[in-house]
Amino acid sequence: MLLSPDQTRHLYEHAALHHYAVLAVNADSPGAVTDCLIAAAECGAPLIIETSLWQLTGHSYGAGDACLGLDRYLAELLLMAASKRFQSVPVVFHTDHIKGPETVRILEHAIRSGASSVSLDSSELEPQENISLMSALCAYAETAGLPVTLEMEAGVDDGVTGLDETRTLFGEVERRHPGRLALWAPGVGTRHGLDADLGGFSPEAVRQHQQLASDLAGRPIGIALHGSSGLSRGQLQDAVAAGVTKVNWSSESLLIRSQSARAYFAENGAALEKGAPGFKAVAMDHGMQSFISQRYVPKVVERMQVLLGSAPLPVDFDSAGGNLE
Ligand SMILES: [Zn+2]
Repeated sequence: MLLSPDQTRHLYEHAALHHYAVLAVNADSPGAVTDCLIAAAECGAPLIIETSLWQLTGHSYGAGDACLGLDRYLAELLLMAASKRFQSVPVVFHTDHIKGPETVRILEHAIRSGASSVSLDSSELEPQENISLMSALCAYAETAGLPVTLEMEAGVDDGVTGLDETRTLFGEVERRHPGRLALWAPGVGTRHGLDADLGGFSPEAVRQHQQLASDLAGRPIGIALHGSSGLSRGQLQDAVAAGVTKVNWSSESLLIRSQSARAYFAENGAALEKGAPGFKAVAMDHGMQSFISQRYVPKVVERMQVLLGSAPLPVDFDSAGGNLE
């Protein structure tokens, strides 16, 4: 089932209270979304499906129009999440790395359309711009009478963010619009991409930021971890133990899927000759997507199990007083 913004805030708080993290897959095709749902159902885990500007405007979704892309992405996810097979999986739809002049227009559209939680890419923003944009989204939701759940970020690729930035950025938006923020994404020494040096990853920074953000908000605030692709199993466990509740996963996911596609064509190339037996079964999208799925789903399951830590399975939201029905 697709979670509303209020249910999503409850899920993020539940994760912070019960010391587990939810895998947030930057899924860039319908096949990837299906595979993540299969993995989550197998694990009894909640799932965050997130999309960035490059998927919304990409060929498989908006083909140049980000808002159209969001509508298509969300409509497909809503159908799949409500289906009999996946209705027991709590699914969050999150916007990730939205940036540029259209940021507010796209995110207002996302809020209006029922996105579970939203965030924007602050990497090219001055601190005051970051605060202003987050405040504008809160003000929009309040004026329109819509629920909104937000992740705020600062310097996710720039080493370890100082605690003073948590006070001035996160603290300021919380002061202006109490109760809207549910996740804080400071820099904790990770970097986006596959060839990044992650020697600087600091669970201690996670711990300190998590405590301070929770103190500022007066409720449990989890840390969202960007750039997790290069982290070892042990580092992920340390991250979760320190207060990470959302783990973004993109580069490694893309690598597994694209290398599987390459292997598919390497193994089945002969069938793509004109007149070859079995041509259609190999040529159709289903053939390749099924091949990728067999290799990809076990990797997603493995990562979800690491992040779940000692969470009760299936994750029992009722134990925290929540009701997802
Ligand atoms: Zn990111």
